[in-house]
Amino acid sequence: MRHLDVATGILGGLLLFFAVQGYDVIPVIFFIAMISAFIFLNKSRFGGKSFAALAKKETSGKLIHFDDIGGQEVAKNELREALEFIKDAERLNQLGIRPLKGILLNGPPGTGKTLLAKAAAQFTDSAFVAASGSEFVEMYVGVGAQRIRQLFGQAKQQARQAKKTSAVIFIDEIEVLGGKRGQANSNLEYDQTLNELLVQMDGLSGSDDVRILLVAATNRVDILDPALLRPGRFDRQVRVDLPDKIGRLRILELHTRNKPLAADVRLEGIAADTFGFSGAHLESVTNEAAIMALRDNLAEITSSHFKNAIEKVLMGEKLDRIPSTAEKQRIAIHEAGHALLSELTMPGSVASINVASRSIALGYVRQTQADDIYLYTLDYIKGKIAVALAGAIAEELHFGNRSSGAGSDFKAAVDYSKQIIFGGMSSLGIISPDDIPQELLHTTMTEMLKEIETQVRNTLLEHKQFLADITQLLLRDECITGNEFRQLLGQERPFDQEFDLQTAL
Ligand code: ATP
Repeated sequence: MRHLDVATGILGGLLLFFAVQGYDVIPVIFFIAMISAFIFLNKSRFGGKSFAALAKKETSGKLIHFDDIGGQEVAKNELREALEFIKDAERLNQLGIRPLKGILLNGPPGTGKTLLAKAAAQFTDSAFVAASGSEFVEMYVGVGAQRIRQLFGQAKQQARQAKKTSAVIFIDEIEVLGGKRGQANSNLEYDQTLNELLVQMDGLSGSDDVRILLVAATNRVDILDPALLRPGRFDRQVRVDLPDKIGRLRILELHTRNKPLAADVRLEGIAADTFGFSGAHLESVTNEAAIMALRDNLAEITSSHFKNAIEKVLMGEKLDRIPSTAEKQRIAIHEAGHALLSELTMPGSVASINVASRSIALGYVRQTQADDIYLYTLDYIKGKIAVALAGAIAEELHFGNRSSGAGSDFKAAVDYSKQIIFGGMSSLGIISPDDIPQELLHTTMTEMLKEIETQVRNTLLEHKQFLADITQLLLRDECITGNEFRQLLGQERPFDQEFDLQTAL
């Protein structure tokens, strides 16, 4: 950039000099402007670098084997089975089997879809080229299509250079370029890019010198153009879900292989504690825990580092922002209310209660569960509503009013109540969500929420002393672990005095 500035300065100076000498410099200025416009347009069309260079960058990673991917056993097996076809091309030809052209990995972010694609390349001894759907999206008609052609060309070239007979092309976020055509959000450029991808896929043949397998990832199969999903294109769909408890344990084991762990670290406990975490979250937990050990100048990572790392990954970094004392009291009583109802409705469910402000929340209760749950009963969902409402009701009992801090709790409670109604578990019985009158939905929902609200209020009143004790502890320590909380609940003092928050503090 510096050189460019200097050159522009010298050129400007020369032009000025010749203009003062009486020369006509206008044609030269015009010529320079044309050249600059041409360079600028080309740079912006191709992002300043060739697409081949972009794709190549992605390939330079270490080899990934299926064993380096924790959990995802179903996905790995399905993928491996599909890849066996590619490995044995000879037999495929003999039996006249149409080669598999595309595999679609479908699942939430960070669950290992890219890793699976890389492992697929390693398993089949193929070259690997990766790109993201958004790299094909341009304002200029034809650019995306050209990039698709370049990507396929690049894959073939790389395979030939590495003396391989196959290549895996991985396209992440395929929904960006493969959305349904002819919709309001689609346009000529999008449609052309997708058409080109379809053309390239149709052109793939088992007799090519380099056989290409396209692996694409998305978490929005519903918006993909049906042409992509029809047989002969992405005819294998592999579901890549969030890992279950055993999967989480395997992922934690993989990412702590190279890390010294203290004797008090139990990976099984951490796996149980991290329901809903993706592989990427878990990798981040192990990394953050190691960074915390480094900051503490320790040679080993302890369980308390893991505990703090889970909170950080889930809720963000602790903030220096300190709420006023009155706000802190409110936050503490609010969280104590959530935690109490959580423990009473689902014993063992509180993992920690926190009132240290983090980037996502001022305070929060982290919940856990002994086993992963896939089916929700009516009692379970009602329990969830009770936990959601308990924060605001605890505030109301002790301050005489609620605050805006409960907005997201109420939204969750409303969502849960809709889940009950639409699931045919309410007094309305089985209903059609599309045909139920809004007013009836509203009345049923508010009645249900009111009934649970009353129950929660009574429960919190019964445990006023306990709430006061917990609030006091939270204001002192900022965080209480689930075990400490359960211990205190087991030794709960009977309610013997009028709750006085000021005394409690
Ligand atoms: P996205 O859809 O956001 O691109 P993805 O599903 O492709 O995500 P990856 O890029 O494969 O996810 O995973 C991101 C990182 O998370 C990996 O580099 C790895 O460290 C970790 N990870 C994710 N899933 C697993 C897993 N099953 N086993 C081991 N590590 C995993």
